[in-house]
Amino acid sequence: MSEDTVMQLPKVDPSEKSMDEIVALCKRRGFVYPASEIYGGINGFWDYGPLGALLKNNIRDHWWKRMVECPPIGPDGDPLQIVGLDSSIIQNPRTWEASGHVAGFNDPMSTCKQCKKLLRADHVLSMLHSAPWVTAVNETSPGTDGADNDTISAFAGSNRARKVAPGLVDALKENPSHVAIVANAAQRVAAGDQSETFVAACPHCGGELTEPRAFNLMFESHAGAIKDEANKVYLRPETAQGIFLNYKNVVDTMRVKVPFGVAQIGKAFRNEVTPRNFIFRSREFEQMEMEWFCHPDEAAKWYEFWKNERMDWWKSLGIDEANLRFRDHDDDELAHYSKMCVDVEYRYPFTGGNFGELEGIAHRGCFDLTQHQEHSGKDQSYFDQELQVRMQNEGKSKEEIKEASRYIPNVIEPASGLTRAVLVLLCEAFTPTPDRSGSKYVLSFKPKFAPIKAGIFPLVAKDGMPEVAQKLYYDLREKFTCEYDVKQSIGRRYARMDEIGTPYCFTIDGDTLTDQTVTVRERDTASQQRINISQVEAFLRENIG
Ligand code: ATP
Repeated sequence: MSEDTVMQLPKVDPSEKSMDEIVALCKRRGFVYPASEIYGGINGFWDYGPLGALLKNNIRDHWWKRMVECPPIGPDGDPLQIVGLDSSIIQNPRTWEASGHVAGFNDPMSTCKQCKKLLRADHVLSMLHSAPWVTAVNETSPGTDGADNDTISAFAGSNRARKVAPGLVDALKENPSHVAIVANAAQRVAAGDQSETFVAACPHCGGELTEPRAFNLMFESHAGAIKDEANKVYLRPETAQGIFLNYKNVVDTMRVKVPFGVAQIGKAFRNEVTPRNFIFRSREFEQMEMEWFCHPDEAAKWYEFWKNERMDWWKSLGIDEANLRFRDHDDDELAHYSKMCVDVEYRYPFTGGNFGELEGIAHRGCFDLTQHQEHSGKDQSYFDQELQVRMQNEGKSKEEIKEASRYIPNVIEPASGLTRAVLVLLCEAFTPTPDRSGSKYVLSFKPKFAPIKAGIFPLVAKDGMPEVAQKLYYDLREKFTCEYDVKQSIGRRYARMDEIGTPYCFTIDGDTLTDQTVTVRERDTASQQRINISQVEAFLRENIG
């Protein structure tokens, strides 16, 4: 490498990254576009552009590989048994009665009495953490634990308040009793309060919020020509239920024995009340879920296993450990059937230095299969032949064996968002590079996940260079996602590749024609070296992983 051109990519803390810049880069470089943009967009829906689709597929394939094709090695040294599934988005609506979604898939909602916005009550606190008025109020009272009533009154009369929070100024004018509510909310944020208890201040305008009420999140449609109650169906709000519905089919048709897993990736739909933070919370998204069916006595052991395995998987995407953590659910957060639940969380740029959910790993007991058994009348129990033989060898009584060898398996469920993983990789890779001459940003993806692995460029579009570059491109494109580009100056082509996260570029120049060497230009360091053109494939194999 020529030392004079080597630069190190700065390591930027996620809290210092700007979501506005990330969203703008995603649009400008073809990762994510607002859905139906020419009609003004539609709140909560996004389209994945050419590069976003490639990035998403790379993450999807990595999950599928590690779950289904090369599942982890279990505690006994053998690979686990996990099979894949692709179930229907629309199922018999009784599915959602059994699963509890019809009755219970409700978010607690509050309305702001001032600006009338509908908000998820359990998200208010985290929204307050990134609310401009809260930041501004807390900056008005530095050195204290946060704002008091006097600070709020002073702030409300300031020019800054009119700039960052005109809604708040109006709310306080109309209802002076809000001063205390607003001060309390700002104080709690300043004190780093993380408890998701209800805070009665609107993150948008500081107005008072109503008591939370339930709101059903499932999208409804009708199957068939007549739009009546009998034909009502739901778009699935999670992929998991399709797995439970097929558990018996899998046991009967595949050579699986408990413990085993069924994995599925696919679209899910939730009529989220407050879709926000770009693709973090959308109304249409993709999930990667696996249901691990095991003996009830072993469920706690498998819960620990999957918890660690999933964290390892997230790290394998190239995410800095410092930006990931586990968060155990408190008892009052657990669903009534869930025995244990932990979230894998990431430090998103919009969580103000805090963490937000990326994946949930839940010990669901035998709730789901029992519910489907009760609602469908179809036996969902599992006959454990191995256990039967073991008990016979141990000399157990017939009754004991009969009682123990048929049971409804327990389930450990690692449930993650594929589209949320796309967001995490974009946030993690996003690095502003104000000191670089070409690109303003670098997306420093781990090479394996970069949408394009290599750019192949003739230095100029003449003197036989395009022909050599094209041949290299044709040789490589079946093995790596490559792009051939002949337009613009070489600096601009490198800059574009930096901004879409391409780890390597290979440039064919005048020397290539005489000595068969090409320039390899590396994304993160902008360093260049020359290698023989015949070595390019091996170079990529070694460095892409
Ligand atoms: P939240 O509390 O954030 O609404 P959840 O706990 O209901 O999420 P799960 O039902 O456990 O989420 O879904 C599993 C995963 O699916 C989540 O960890 C997340 O990655 C993803 N997910 C859930 N809802 C959405 C959404 N609206 N948009 C994008 N991804 C989502």
